Amino acid sequence: RSGRSAALRARMEERLLGARFRYLNQQLYTGSSRDAERLFRADPAAFHLYHRGFERQVRRWPERPVQRIVRYLRRRPASLVVADFGCGDCTLAASVKNKVHCFDLVPLSPRVTVCDMAKVPLAAESVDVAVFCLALMGTNLQEILGEANRVLKLGGTLMMAEVASRFEDTCAFLKAMTMLGFRTVSKDLSSSYFYVLEFTKTGPARPGPAPGLRLRPCLYKRR
Ligand code: SAH
Repeated sequence: RSGRSAALRARMEERLLGARFRYLNQQLYTGSSRDAERLFRADPAAFHLYHRGFERQVRRWPERPVQRIVRYLRRRPASLVVADFGCGDCTLAASVKNKVHCFDLVPLSPRVTVCDMAKVPLAAESVDVAVFCLALMGTNLQEILGEANRVLKLGGTLMMAEVASRFEDTCAFLKAMTMLGFRTVSKDLSSSYFYVLEFTKTGPARPGPAPGLRLRPCLYKRR
């Protein structure tokens, strides 16, 4: 009766949310970062829905990738200035002593500077560590990583945590990263959920195409 219909309704709502999340997620991974900016500007509620879905996905994993970035930063001097591209709820900034510039499309926290990650309001060569934690969603990867290169100091660090299944050809990807001015320092491919890659900025990004710089969209199956 009323208990059962409430339960049924809750289940239906769950399903709808799941379907909307998967649809939004697909849009984010198949369009440019500018399309994502437009999407969320037009519909901020979509962003909150997206984040609820994202949280549910990541909670299933044995470890949150952002915790790996937190551990990494805690081993290094707290004086390093960090830029967190696609910071979400700012877990990273809240977990370390460093100065962290937080960028996202919608502010889940007052720390966030709202902008498209392909164009962040930071001076050239002003940060020591750039972070992309499950945030490389736009198809304009090269432009986004070029922006990270621009704001990083020479010798600065790029930390990337990405869903393992997104990598088609890790070798080709790392080779393309050298074209963008990044040398691989370490790669942890041990988790079947996500890879953690560490790069150093060796110089400015070289102009021209960087074939191999490809990530598959991360599409979730209906459960
Ligand atoms: N780094 C956080 C959040 C990951 S979810 C964590 O690990 O918990 C990916 C985030 O990237 C989302 O918050 C999404 O809004 C953001 N994002 C996606 N495209 C973006 C863009 N073009 N500019 C800025 N942020 C973007």
